[in-house]
Amino acid sequence: MPRFNLSWLYMFIAMTIAYLYFTSDDNAGINRQLTYTEFKNMVNQGYASKIIAYNDNTVDMFVKPEHVKDVFKDDYKKVGRSPSMHVEVGSIDALDSFLEKAQEEGHFTGEISYEKKSDFFGAFFWNIAPIFFIVAIWLFIMRRMSGGGGAGGINPFSVGKSKAQVYEKGDNANRITFKDVAGQEGAKQEVQEIVDFLKQPEKYTELGGKIPKGALLVGPPGTGKTLLAKAVAGEADVPFFSMSGSDFVEMFVGVGASRVRDLFRQAKEKAPCIIFIDEIDAVGRARSKSPSMGGNDERESTLNQLLTEMDGFGTNSGVIILAATNRADILDKALLRAGRFDRQIHVDLPDLNERKAVFEVHLKPLKLDDTVDPETLARQTPGFSGADIANVCNEAALIAARHKKNAVGKQDFLDAVDRIIGGLEKKTKIMTTHEKRTIALHEAGHATISWFLEHANPLIKVTIVPRGRALGAAWYMPEERQITTKEQMLDEMCATLGGRAAEELFTGHISTGAMNDLERVTKQAYGMIAYAGMSDKLPNLCYYNNEEYSFSKPYSDRTAELIDEEVKRMINEQYERAKEVLTAQKEGHNQLAQLLMEKEVIFAEDVEKIFGKRPWASRSEEIMNQGSTQVLAEEKANEETPLLENKEA
Ligand code: ADP
Repeated sequence: MPRFNLSWLYMFIAMTIAYLYFTSDDNAGINRQLTYTEFKNMVNQGYASKIIAYNDNTVDMFVKPEHVKDVFKDDYKKVGRSPSMHVEVGSIDALDSFLEKAQEEGHFTGEISYEKKSDFFGAFFWNIAPIFFIVAIWLFIMRRMSGGGGAGGINPFSVGKSKAQVYEKGDNANRITFKDVAGQEGAKQEVQEIVDFLKQPEKYTELGGKIPKGALLVGPPGTGKTLLAKAVAGEADVPFFSMSGSDFVEMFVGVGASRVRDLFRQAKEKAPCIIFIDEIDAVGRARSKSPSMGGNDERESTLNQLLTEMDGFGTNSGVIILAATNRADILDKALLRAGRFDRQIHVDLPDLNERKAVFEVHLKPLKLDDTVDPETLARQTPGFSGADIANVCNEAALIAARHKKNAVGKQDFLDAVDRIIGGLEKKTKIMTTHEKRTIALHEAGHATISWFLEHANPLIKVTIVPRGRALGAAWYMPEERQITTKEQMLDEMCATLGGRAAEELFTGHISTGAMNDLERVTKQAYGMIAYAGMSDKLPNLCYYNNEEYSFSKPYSDRTAELIDEEVKRMINEQYERAKEVLTAQKEGHNQLAQLLMEKEVIFAEDVEKIFGKRPWASRSEEIMNQGSTQVLAEEKANEETPLLENKEA
């Protein structure tokens, strides 16, 4: 089957044009159609030289050269060598009798012939062309769909084949081992067993044990799930099939299922091996309960096929399936039951020590100067995933290259972190002094309030340099904590509202600059009240609903009103509180804003000079000292350390 490409279409168009050109009468501009009456008149006037009658009741009347001018009027120059007119007649019999009469009367002396019309090429063309055209379009669409628009295109007859990438065993150049995965000790330990299975299945089967079918890696994006799966394949030295859940899904019904079958068939041929399905939630989502609504037949049949392949009658041996998702909660229960994905392995965001390890892995290929210390970098990047860290390292190298340095230094890394969190600095953005003052007051508002609230995150720096879409920002070092108390959330909310409160108090106007803050606060308040049960009027209730298509709220209209009220009350309370703090610290706040306008970037130490030592600093250090995040406490706020949680003006 030759591959379809666009030139076919061009060829087809060219053929159509050629056909029209050849079959049309030459001099197509002239009207050669006659009515029967006109025809009779012309014959009676003796214009006709020859008449051909066809079996489809049409007649061609050839015109005598001397009468061409009378028949064709102004167009007579364009008629060519044998000018003729075309006529539809009622019946050949009627024509016969008319012509006989004309001959008798001497009006017509030419010859009459009867012919069969066989426009062979035309008939052929019009019968075949539509089919040809439809096939062409079909091929075109198929190619578009199966090729994903990618270059080269894919044979339309292989849509049902799996698109898995295969990494063969013994491919040492690309081999990834556990050494490449930094941190994630728990997860590594869990998958270690899978490696053992693949290496020595007898050890387990001899005792009657069955080899596990699969493991589900659950965790936020960029935490190294794919990397871990590759490492398993590398360690066990077996072939590795990798594909994404969305690769199964296609517009045609049945393709997904056939791809699953094909994938497992290929895998069984190469067993023992590993199949890795990334983002399995694309196919593994819970099947809908009401088939009439929102059901997705194609996805469901793909999932059913996957379920049977994993643990059906034709159970496979030696094929282990690893899958990754960050939404284990929406997966179908049948997929998670023992015998399929027997184990779930949680791959979490790295903590401080793990981040250090990830930095060590990614710093290796870089040329560093001696100011760089993975430990400090790890402290600067709370909440970063492994992929973010890889990105920081790369970005730092790019920044260093831009400054034409011959080694990457600490400052490059700090700039890279700032850039990744906040976006690119836009020093050239033009602002009026008035705008600048508003932004300074706003950011100083955040800073002042977080300084005086017990549970607010420690401040690192405040800037009014526009970055990304933000006009200014206050940067904090968030605590790495697993649970958050109501007090902490309220204090954060109050600090977030501090920007607008400051604007209102000290400029007398409120502005759109606080929109982002307000959005966050509103969402947070709804979350606290409707999901975390943190309001006095709706205590201990959680209306969280993880079903995808739920059109009804799990609470009554009255409760909805109550939730709205509570949200408003909570936000108003915090706003008033923010105003109180600001009024009490008016002097300090204004000094801070002034300083910010002068220096554009100020650090925690500058704030400390104005307000004195933060009343709660020792307390939070103490808290931090107890936890695993101990090192954070040693972090001196005065080190020029950026960090997380960007409050945008
Ligand atoms: P996902 O969890 O989304 O599948 P990946 O495994 O694709 O994430 O990770 C993306 C990249 O991030 C990896 O290629 C690697 O460079 C980096 N990375 C993530 N986690 C780690 C880790 N624990 N150790 C080393 N590099 C990591």
